[in-house]
Amino acid sequence: MNEAGAAPCIFCRIVDGSIPSTAVASNDHALAFRDLHPQAPVHVLVVPRRHVVSLAEADDAAELGHLLALAAEVARREGIAESGYRVVTNIGADGGQSVGHLHLHVLGGRPLGWPPG
Ligand code: 5GP
Ligand code: ZN
Repeated sequence: MNEAGAAPCIFCRIVDGSIPSTAVASNDHALAFRDLHPQAPVHVLVVPRRHVVSLAEADDAAELGHLLALAAEVARREGIAESGYRVVTNIGADGGQSVGHLHLHVLGGRPLGWPPG
């Protein structure tokens, strides 16, 4: 339970290690781990270590920069930097966000359709 008496969010629990994940890369501000239900051969989530609900609530430009830098590092490590990839963040109901902790999806390893659904 957190100070408000609510259970910590699932990605906070992954960041603190209380829920297992397969880490791919990390820096002081962000953690990258494999998506539980991959939508492409490479599907990695990049999350801030701090709980931030979504891009709409983000208030730290440097933190956002660290997230993007880690997403690019993930692509290099996963071998998709040359073939190309997509970085996307879903925001709120219409954006299709299902976990209320800011995350970047890094998707690649196959041609990706556009526009998204
Ligand atoms: P969203 O729909 O919010 O943009 O993306 C949430 C993502 O989190 C989904 O792709 C979903 O598969 C992934 N996810 C949900 N729960 C877990 C979990 O416990 N572990 C991992 N690794 N991924 C999760
Ligand atoms: Zn959280």
